[in-house]
Amino acid sequence: MRIRKVTTAAAAVAALALTATACGSGGSDSDSGDSSGGGKKITVGIKFDQPGLGLKTPDGTYAGFDVDVATYLAKELGYDAKDIEWKETPSADRETALQRGDVDFIAATYSINEERQQKVDFAGPYFLAHQDLLVRSNDKISKGDDLNGKKLCSVTGSTSAQNVKKEIAPKAQLKEYGTYSECIDGLASEAVDAITTDDSILAGYAAQDQHKGKFKLAGLNLSNENYGVGVKKGDTELKDKINAALEKMVKDGSWEKAVKANFGPDYKYEPAPRIGDIVS
Ligand code: GLU
Repeated sequence: MRIRKVTTAAAAVAALALTATACGSGGSDSDSGDSSGGGKKITVGIKFDQPGLGLKTPDGTYAGFDVDVATYLAKELGYDAKDIEWKETPSADRETALQRGDVDFIAATYSINEERQQKVDFAGPYFLAHQDLLVRSNDKISKGDDLNGKKLCSVTGSTSAQNVKKEIAPKAQLKEYGTYSECIDGLASEAVDAITTDDSILAGYAAQDQHKGKFKLAGLNLSNENYGVGVKKGDTELKDKINAALEKMVKDGSWEKAVKANFGPDYKYEPAPRIGDIVS
């Protein structure tokens, strides 16, 4: 596993920003309009259909690790939970949502990569996941190579789908759906043989009551997915504040608490990444 430093100054900047946030009046000193507090709202992009990460529940509340991270960040920026407007940002829409200003930031299983960094900026990383496979419990898929020729479901605009095409199984029949929930339906109905995406996402579906015993993770560790918080390109002020808040979240134990509360006991998570350290 190789660690790539994105910005050597990131830690110093984050430390400064943390001091500013801790001593300030909760973000009201920001001049970035939408991202300052004072009774205003902040719009946050998350997934709505990914259990354990970003899920809109039937009673209209939101739950998951990304929701907890975003709620903590919003608080540090000066917004109470009631001031957050949640907006669904499916994988393929994330860059556009930030570019158009539809959302202030995104916490939606959003892997940092160079292609995306051309269009948006990332704070973090705040979580390290690995691409894996979800198959039906009675199936025997064990290696990446076994996937060539199989019907493999993933989501348009995800790194998971790209990795399949580029390296994991170029000869797989890749079915690209709009959401992972559609892939889950396809796996249950046998329209597809396997789903590939981050193990964190797959573990969340596998642990859901209605899926218990039906699916299993292959445990393949096919890639490193460094989750970042997406912000509009060039919004360094917001990025630095978020980095400071992420550091604080790890330091005060809230990060660990959120991980434990949202991922099932079977999910083996990586330790909290350091800001600016991308595992390639
Ligand atoms: N983390 C990967 C990505 O950003 C896969 C999960 C997703 O589609 O959100 O593409």
